[in-house]
Amino acid sequence: MISAVQTDPIVAVSTPSGMGGIAVVRLSGKGADRVIGKCWKGVSLDGIASHSAHLGKVLLEDGSVLDEVVLTFFKGPRSFTGEDVFEISCHGSRWIQRELVNLLVRHGARAAAPGEFTQRAFMNGRMDLAQAEGVIDLISASSKASHRMAMRQANGRFTVYLDNLRDRLIEFASLLELELDFSEEEVEFADRKRLRDLADELLGVLRRLAASYSTGKSLKDGVPVVIAGAPNAGKSTLLNQLLEEEKAIVSDVPGTTRDIIEDTCEVNGILFRFIDTAGLRDTADIVERIGIERAEDRLSRASIILWLLDTTGDTDNQLKEILNRVGELPDASHLLVCNKVDLANNCESEKYSPAEAGQGESLCGAAAESLFGKETAHLFDACMSISASEGYGIDELKGIMTSLACKEYNPDTDIILTNGRHYAAILRGAEALSRARAALDTGLSADFIAQDVRETLHHLATLTGTISTPDLLASIFSRFCIGK
Ligand code: GDP
Repeated sequence: MISAVQTDPIVAVSTPSGMGGIAVVRLSGKGADRVIGKCWKGVSLDGIASHSAHLGKVLLEDGSVLDEVVLTFFKGPRSFTGEDVFEISCHGSRWIQRELVNLLVRHGARAAAPGEFTQRAFMNGRMDLAQAEGVIDLISASSKASHRMAMRQANGRFTVYLDNLRDRLIEFASLLELELDFSEEEVEFADRKRLRDLADELLGVLRRLAASYSTGKSLKDGVPVVIAGAPNAGKSTLLNQLLEEEKAIVSDVPGTTRDIIEDTCEVNGILFRFIDTAGLRDTADIVERIGIERAEDRLSRASIILWLLDTTGDTDNQLKEILNRVGELPDASHLLVCNKVDLANNCESEKYSPAEAGQGESLCGAAAESLFGKETAHLFDACMSISASEGYGIDELKGIMTSLACKEYNPDTDIILTNGRHYAAILRGAEALSRARAALDTGLSADFIAQDVRETLHHLATLTGTISTPDLLASIFSRFCIGK
């Protein structure tokens, strides 16, 4: 564990490992100028202006040139770490990067531990803990939506939101404390109705925040979309079409896909995790049976399920099978996707073709109701027809999936929890506040209620690091890579 008071100069390569055109070596801490000064040939570092960049050379001890570099200086506290920081942009050779770090270590710097730059930023008040965790997410963001969520957290928007919530809770606590001050006189100072309303409102905010976690986690790791349906319905063809590559084997032989095949792909700025499953059917084949069990498991964890109906097959039976399962999976969004409508000459699939439905590519509304019956159509979030092999209707399907992924929380505008630690703290805060809320009804004395409100405030304070323990800090910052 890195001690809270360390200010010694630390150094690390801050760009990813591997070779690029240039690499950045970062040096931060008290006396960083002395360390770099021992090997720098260029403009004098005495009184060098903050946020300035200088071309120069780094010399080895024998006077030979290690590299020509650009040195950028950030004077503390207006720097990432809050300390004096030098960023040395050198050529990207791995050898140069390693030699440069070793040279600076020989001149008195210490090799930085994982996350130590960001930990110093936190210790020096440049960012709070939630912001630091936003930086971790920003580094690993793999889609536009996860980038936006991380950026908002790193910029402190989440912190401002929490501060606002905290102020409201303090207002609530002070109303209670007032009542406590007057308890000797048995006066109910705070208007209990006002307290109840405030508690309800704040509880609503905390619960909504906690509920956003499943969306946040999905958007960060990839929204799980399971493709399910009878063997030969076209699931593998659809997976390939969505991923725009030949990931799964397509064949006419039912039971070809016997295990889970999955991959992620960004669609309209959102990362989706598409999962092709073994066709759901009764089988004596042990391997296929295991695949079907895995498919059931994935179904139970899906955010969106694409129920593929082979319109050239026995649609009544397929639909019956699908309907049996839809009711068992209440947490997912369900799409009924009628496939193979390119075979519209085939009498069975003709009625599913969009022309027949008269609704463009989507079979929504009246068209779906007339095909499947009102009750059945309403069990699905959308019904649509596609041709997986011809790519027909795929863009519309992607559009529907995108809006379903963000139907409750918009990554552009809403505060969405993406971090398990934040989720746990918000849940505990909400639990304590709901105890306070219940106590208001049972008429418990104000000091008991105030205790629960204080507990809620405590849990919120752990989010931004106002309250933290060395163990917590160690576990958060060790998740960073070296150089961050
Ligand atoms: P899975 O068992 O559900 O994964 O089905 P596959 O993707 O392996 O497809 C089974 C068969 O249906 C293959 O011969 C595919 O080429 C064919 N197929 C899939 N989608 C379509 C489609 O939209 N139109 C037509 N005409 N054939 C399709």
